[in-house]
Amino acid sequence: MIRNNISFLNEINLVNQNWKSSSRIFGAAIEMWVEKKLNCECSGIFINKKANQKAYDAICNKCSKKIKLNLQKKIFKPNKNGELKILSSEYKTTLKSLNQSNGWDLYLLAYNLEDYKIKQILMIKSSDINEECVIPRKIGI
Ligand SMILES: [Zn+2]
Repeated sequence: MIRNNISFLNEINLVNQNWKSSSRIFGAAIEMWVEKKLNCECSGIFINKKANQKAYDAICNKCSKKIKLNLQKKIFKPNKNGELKILSSEYKTTLKSLNQSNGWDLYLLAYNLEDYKIKQILMIKSSDINEECVIPRKIGI
């Protein structure tokens, strides 16, 4: 569930202006956006973890659900069976640890560099993950 709007321009302006790496800037801004604008299924709020203690990215203030975020510029495209193939090895590692931890959800967010808007949010339950693919569920957008 998304509160208010899908723009993270306000959050971009809050990011450390000395940072040069765009992926770092967008990552930090979108984490702030998640805390302010995205609700857990239980209607709780996701509180970000500090950067130096990241076994997960955020935790719900009501039901203690832990989530990890995966951000990219391109839209995620599930196939006609609703499955998303996993290509990058880094991503596979994330999913493996996710699966083992049993109880985190993964949120996939696609964002637009030009207008600072979230284009897509998919949620993946740890139970919907296997070696080859994941089965995402749509959130809001
Ligand atoms: Zn919750």
